[in-house]
Amino acid sequence: MQAFDIIIVGGGPGGTTAAQILARAGKSVALVEKTHLGGTCLNCGCIPTKMLLGAVAPLALLHAQQRTRVAKGDITVDFTALQTRVSRFTRGTSQTLGKNLGSLGVTVFEGRGEALAAGAIRVHADTSHTDLTAQHIILSCGSSSASFPGLTPDHDCVLDSTDLLHIQSVPESLVIVGAGAIGLELGDFFSAMGSKVTIVEAAPHVAPLEDADIAAELRRALQKGGITCHEGARAKDLRTNDGQAQLTLDDGTVITAAKALVAVGRTPNTAGLRAEQLGCSLNRRGYVETDGCLQAAPNVCAIGDVNGLVLLAHAAEHQAVYVANRILGNCQHEYQSGPVPSCVYGATEVMRVGQTAEALLREGKRVEVSQAPLSLNPIAQASGGTSGFVKVVWSEGRIAGIAAVGAGVSHLVMVALLLIRGGYTAQNLHEVMFAHPTLDEIVPMAITAPKTSVTLP
Ligand code: FAD
Repeated sequence: MQAFDIIIVGGGPGGTTAAQILARAGKSVALVEKTHLGGTCLNCGCIPTKMLLGAVAPLALLHAQQRTRVAKGDITVDFTALQTRVSRFTRGTSQTLGKNLGSLGVTVFEGRGEALAAGAIRVHADTSHTDLTAQHIILSCGSSSASFPGLTPDHDCVLDSTDLLHIQSVPESLVIVGAGAIGLELGDFFSAMGSKVTIVEAAPHVAPLEDADIAAELRRALQKGGITCHEGARAKDLRTNDGQAQLTLDDGTVITAAKALVAVGRTPNTAGLRAEQLGCSLNRRGYVETDGCLQAAPNVCAIGDVNGLVLLAHAAEHQAVYVANRILGNCQHEYQSGPVPSCVYGATEVMRVGQTAEALLREGKRVEVSQAPLSLNPIAQASGGTSGFVKVVWSEGRIAGIAAVGAGVSHLVMVALLLIRGGYTAQNLHEVMFAHPTLDEIVPMAITAPKTSVTLP
């Protein structure tokens, strides 16, 4: 039995952030990680997808210039070289993270953590196990790709996002089930690399968490870029058949492609964790239930994807900072996320901070919207990406959310967040000076534009 102040199970952005803060404050910390430090985010999530999209981003920009007849010629991306670069980078960053944790005094245990009893975790390595005890336990085990009966990756032609990120060559065609951020980003990348991409989404529109007008603009852009979208189309069966992925929709339509991606959500990594041994409860979908202080049981916190609150890396980090400070006695208040920023990256991007108009309307609130088209912005004009708009969602005289769709709009996410947090409105926005020319300038234009009342579509 080895004793620590804190045991952290899971070394993704949540777990490693908490470990660093607690170790810097002089606590003895054990971090248990069963695969690679950095978690989903570094090894098979945010970072590899953005490295892939980053490599093809200049192509989209140059194609936009080509359409205005100021550029010509071909430039291609070497997929094999790109994959080598991505895997070297992620491996190297994971190793550096391990060294940093070690230099702070964090003891990293390689193996699968399993709860034994209150305050006790067993680490299963290949041929042995080690038992650890601590006063506090943080569960930060993250999530994995979800699948459903009839929609289960066979890792042959039917892949999950991790398989597709590690594929050796660009498939000639790719059908994607699920048009959330993961499906959209990987679809955008492989389309830019020459795959014929088809996206199937059961919800009424792509980007199902966004308002219908944002999604409609995104769909237009995807289709213009050669991606076929089937919205409101339910996938019934997906399998490898004769060396190809074969997808059957509820209405009997059959779509075949060289590969298929199942991107229908995430499932928490709680199987085999035995979190109930610590006094935790799991909800119907297997996520660890937490209270307003992210506590799952006395002296046990659950942060990041595993608690199912917000499945984003920056949410995991934000929660990690909170629980680490709570353990250190630096704060007693309940956890408050504030408005949550989120982005979908690609040639046409979506960003949102705060709530959608439709979510507020469903809550029975009165909602107004003001917006500005990207075509009015000099930076959008310069890069040739003028389709899209910024939309400000107003409720009770305050900004409840800001969303945008178009080329490069992920860059607006922090200006939107800070304006909402600062409580700015059309009346006091003059206090902020915006640099000119920047893409940011489209946000104050949208805030000061005339407001119109909206109802549910
Ligand atoms: P994870 O990063 O999942 O880390 C959990 C760790 O725990 C893993 O390393 C796992 O091996 C380990 N583990 C699990 N069970 C055990 C156990 N029993 N014992 C020991 N170790 C265990 N988010 C964004 O904010 N922006 C993006 O652009 C973005 N892009 C994404 C793209 C893709 C393709 C995917 C799949 C996800 C993306 N995400 C993105 C989501 C993001 O990766 C996650 O929200 C984030 O990684 C969650 O962090 P976490 O620390 O909670 O868990």
